[in-house]
Amino acid sequence: MSESTLLGATEIRALAESLSAKPTKKLGQNFVIDPNTVRRIVAQAHVSSEDVVVEIGPGLGSLTLALLPNVAKVLAVEIDPVLSTALPATISKHAPNLKENLIVINADAMRIDELPINPTHLVANLPYNVSVPVVLHFLETFPSLKEILVMVQAEVADRMAAGPGSKIYGVPSVKMAWYGDVTKAGSVGRNVFWPAPNVDSGLVRLVRKDREFDPQLRELTFAIVDAAFGQRRKTLRTALGSVLGSPQTVESILQDTGIDSGLRGEQLSLKDFVAIAKQAKKVT
Ligand code: SAM
Repeated sequence: MSESTLLGATEIRALAESLSAKPTKKLGQNFVIDPNTVRRIVAQAHVSSEDVVVEIGPGLGSLTLALLPNVAKVLAVEIDPVLSTALPATISKHAPNLKENLIVINADAMRIDELPINPTHLVANLPYNVSVPVVLHFLETFPSLKEILVMVQAEVADRMAAGPGSKIYGVPSVKMAWYGDVTKAGSVGRNVFWPAPNVDSGLVRLVRKDREFDPQLRELTFAIVDAAFGQRRKTLRTALGSVLGSPQTVESILQDTGIDSGLRGEQLSLKDFVAIAKQAKKVT
C-alpha cells in the first residue's frame, strides 16, 4: 500500500525555516503540527480511494500528506507562492509513491472558478479570515462536491451549524443549510497548531442536499437572508424593504407566504426564507 509519513512539530518548523517562511496572520497561517489531528480530520471526512478532494490552503502539507494515501487525487489550492512551490518536494520526500496524485494550484481560492477535475469532497484546515465565504463559493461553483469537512474557528463552526431561534443563528447558518445538512464533527484545541491561535477550533461537516437547483432563486433567497440579518433588531416588515420594495409590497408578500411581518430574521428557517423568495418572484 502507498503510504506517507506525517509531519510533526520539528519537521514543520524546520520546513518553514528552510523556506524562510514566517507564518502570517493575514493569510491565517496556523499549521497543524500534530499527526493525530490530521488523521482525525481524514477519518471524519468520509473519503474513499475513488474520491477527488480539493484542499484549500495546504500550507506546508500536514493535511495533504494524511489525505493522499486515502483518496484518488488531491487538488491543493494555495495562495502563498512560497508554500505552493515547496509542496511537491515535501510530498515527494514524505509520500514518494503518491506524488502523481497531487495537483497544486497557486491561486486565491476565492477566485477559483474551475478545477482540472471535478472534486467530490472539500477537506481543509481553512484560513480563518475567509472560512465562510470560501466554503460558500466552492459549494456554489462546484456542484460535484457531495461532502465537506472543514476545520474552522470554534465560534464559526457553531454559527455554521446553528438552527433558528438560537442567538448564534445567522447568515452562515441559513446559507450553509441551503446546500445541505450541517453538523459539528468535533473540537480541536490550540496546541495542535504552530503558531498556536488564540481561539479554539472546530470541525464542521456538510452533506450536500441542494434544496433547490435554481440559481436565481438562490440569489434572491440569499439577498433576503442578508437583508433580514443585516438589521437584526428590525422586524421583517422593515428589514426586507431594501430587497422586496415598498412596505406594502413586503407586507403583502409576507402575508401571502403566511409569515408574520413582525417576526425577525433569526426566527425564520431556511424553508421560510425560500418561501418568501418564491412568493417575491411571483409578484415582481
Ligand atoms: N492545511 C495546512 C495545515 O493544516 O497545516 C495549513 C492551514 S492554514 C490554517 C491556512 C492555509 O491557507 C495557509 O497555508 C494559507 O497560506 C492558505 N490561504 C490563506 N488564504 C487563502 C486563499 N484565499 N486561498 C488559498 N489559500 C489560502
